[in-house]
Amino acid sequence: MEKKEQLYEGKAKKVYATDDPELLIVSYKDDATAFNGKKKGTIAGKGIINNKMSNRLMARLEKEGVPTHFVEELNERETLVKKVKIVPLEVIVRNISTGSFSKRYGFPEGVVFDEPTVEYSYKNDELNDPLICDSHVLAMKLTTKEELQTIHDYALRVNEVLKAFWLSCGVTLVDFKLEFGRLADGTIILADEISPDTSRLWDAATGKKLDKDRFRQDLGGVEDAYQEIMGRLEAQLKA
Ligand code: 5GP
Repeated sequence: MEKKEQLYEGKAKKVYATDDPELLIVSYKDDATAFNGKKKGTIAGKGIINNKMSNRLMARLEKEGVPTHFVEELNERETLVKKVKIVPLEVIVRNISTGSFSKRYGFPEGVVFDEPTVEYSYKNDELNDPLICDSHVLAMKLTTKEELQTIHDYALRVNEVLKAFWLSCGVTLVDFKLEFGRLADGTIILADEISPDTSRLWDAATGKKLDKDRFRQDLGGVEDAYQEIMGRLEAQLKA
């Protein structure tokens, strides 16, 4: 597969065209941002970890009935993926209260929900990714009703699969963000990445944060936390 021109550079990844119009190459960077780009930094080795982790998790999700963009890992930072048009929604699933949920509602952190929550943010940096309700998604025709139902069902399925998997690694899946896209024929598939950049992952025994919150909140030990969580995942996949 030939890597052609760079199409896009985002906060954490670059995207390249290939000689196949249906396939793209994503390249994971070590750059880290938070608070809509207001905080910037580098997490050494993050791109390598996020590439590998996202690929392992998406491969597992495929087996469990969630279609994804993952095609083939090309090298430690680059992966071949199916080309999609991204649906401009951040799909957030929560098992435990924290982050913007606790902030928005003045609700205590660390409360385990009886059922996972699903919410959407409208992906728009200028507007700071505002929370959006279903009827507004439909009013702006960001998705059809059927597509939104599909996205909702896939998001909960992803949660079931990943919650169980992370638990087997001794890790609590607190919450995460997904992005979906449409193939040329309109099929909805999971895209973007699933990594410690996009998930909250707490050590199940100690509650230690093993994700990007260490960077967001200046907790230190950021690189070590990424290494630790990747090590847990790899050990479990080998077991
Ligand atoms: P919160 O809404 O509490 O800030 O985030 C909920 C979950 O979604 C967290 O796991 C967080 O990492 C993820 N998330 C929400 N928005 C973004 C975003 O813009 N970028 C990234 N990387 N993750 C996000």
